[in-house]
Amino acid sequence: MNASLIDLKTERNRRDPNPDQIIIAGAGIAGLTLALSLSAKGFAVQIFEKSTTLAETGAGVQLSPNATRILHRIGVLDQLIPSSVEPQSICLADGSSGQTLLSLGVGDVARTRWGAPYLVCHRADLQNALLDQARSQTNIAIQLQSAVTQYRSDADGILVRVQYHDRIEEHRGALLIGADGVWSNMRNTMSNMERARYTSMIAWRSTVATDQLPRSFTALLPQGTNVVAWTGPNAHLIAYPIRSGEMFNFVAVAPDRQDGQRWNAGTVPEATNQNFIREFNHWHPGIGEIMRAGRPWTPWPLFEMRKCRYRMEDRLVLIGDAAHAMTPYAAQGAAMAIEDAWALAASLNENTDEWPVALNQFDKERSKRIKAVVRRGALNHLAYCAKGPIAMARNMIMRKRPAEKFIKGLDWLYGYDNESR
Ligand SMILES: Cc1cc2nc3c(=O)[nH]c(=O)nc-3n(C[C@H](O)[C@H](O)[C@H](O)COP(=O)(O)OP(=O)(O)OC[C@H]3O[C@@H](n4cnc5c(N)ncnc54)[C@H](O)[C@@H]3O)c2cc1C
Repeated sequence: MNASLIDLKTERNRRDPNPDQIIIAGAGIAGLTLALSLSAKGFAVQIFEKSTTLAETGAGVQLSPNATRILHRIGVLDQLIPSSVEPQSICLADGSSGQTLLSLGVGDVARTRWGAPYLVCHRADLQNALLDQARSQTNIAIQLQSAVTQYRSDADGILVRVQYHDRIEEHRGALLIGADGVWSNMRNTMSNMERARYTSMIAWRSTVATDQLPRSFTALLPQGTNVVAWTGPNAHLIAYPIRSGEMFNFVAVAPDRQDGQRWNAGTVPEATNQNFIREFNHWHPGIGEIMRAGRPWTPWPLFEMRKCRYRMEDRLVLIGDAAHAMTPYAAQGAAMAIEDAWALAASLNENTDEWPVALNQFDKERSKRIKAVVRRGALNHLAYCAKGPIAMARNMIMRKRPAEKFIKGLDWLYGYDNESR
């Protein structure tokens, strides 16, 4: 079995009916973090996950301090650290000359300035760490191969319909949380809700064993252990080590030239890969070579939601991508899912009469935060893909502006902690 697939086939773990339980649809990063955050407050949690495997093949994730501080609180960070890498810096480089334009220290800086580490890891390692911790909690039950299909609120709570194999089950709870991702069924059942919009950009992902990286590429890497983003007129390439440094993770974001929005995140025909690789033909030869070495590249069409929405009904709340799928230019989608989960659990107490007010407040505060993060992502995208004179101006600013100013400009993002608000 592929090491990045977590086999869940046999798991069917459900407690006796409990109308006070909180039901979560989806065992992704958002759903599992929420289950652990609620469990720490003493709530009984039932998760329904439609898949049998949690598959995030060949993909890494950057976890900034605003996310890792929460992973620490829910008891997951210690398990994650051995397989993660803690980069010294985040570097921005010019894709054609290969020259480094900016290097922002995040190693010690993250721990001292923002109070938690900046990590990069394989998604399967994160998912595994969350899942292991959830399985060890007696007040969390996880039922797999179970898609939440419908729900109905009434005076006593919420009644949730779940498709388990070929039969429909009904479960009662006090609250339903849709943590069911960008294609959220919970969101799409509302006729007036915006669907995720295709951005016409595709993120191509690949991993290469560190000892197989071509020399011309390693010569381009700034010294030390870093996250590096090479920028070009239409595309950008991000690279960082994962799996304790044994693998390198690559994400190349480029315009969709072939109407790839219906592609699943799976391998596509060789010719399609070739077309995409051509986008990097005029880049530094070291990058050209890694593009050829990186095959297969797995396409990930990028979708986003223009409007963030958490609170759907009195007893239905969305979190993570279901509430606000965003482009990956600020590397914050998973971090926002983790922040959502922690903040939602923090807003609930035993007195369910207080929930409506608490949930409105949660919606208001989180929506404000998401808006700011989305703005930052849009700004990064502009900076990454700048052309001609704008690219020259960008390069000059990156070289001249003291790194400390860039670091200060990240305090609101990486230093965020809803506990201290
Ligand atoms: C190329 C790329 C790079 C990225 N890089 C970063 C990064 O570096 N840092 C970062 O913070 N973020 C990053 N992100 C964003 C991040 O991956 C997502 O925001 C995050 O994974 C969302 O998690 P989620 O739990 O909300 O959704 P998902 O991970 O999609 O989980 C949803 C879960 O719900 C289940 N489900 C769906 N429907 C149902 C149903 N009806 N019933 C039951 N279960 C259901 C699904 O099977 C799935 O397990 C990146 C995204 C992309 C595309």
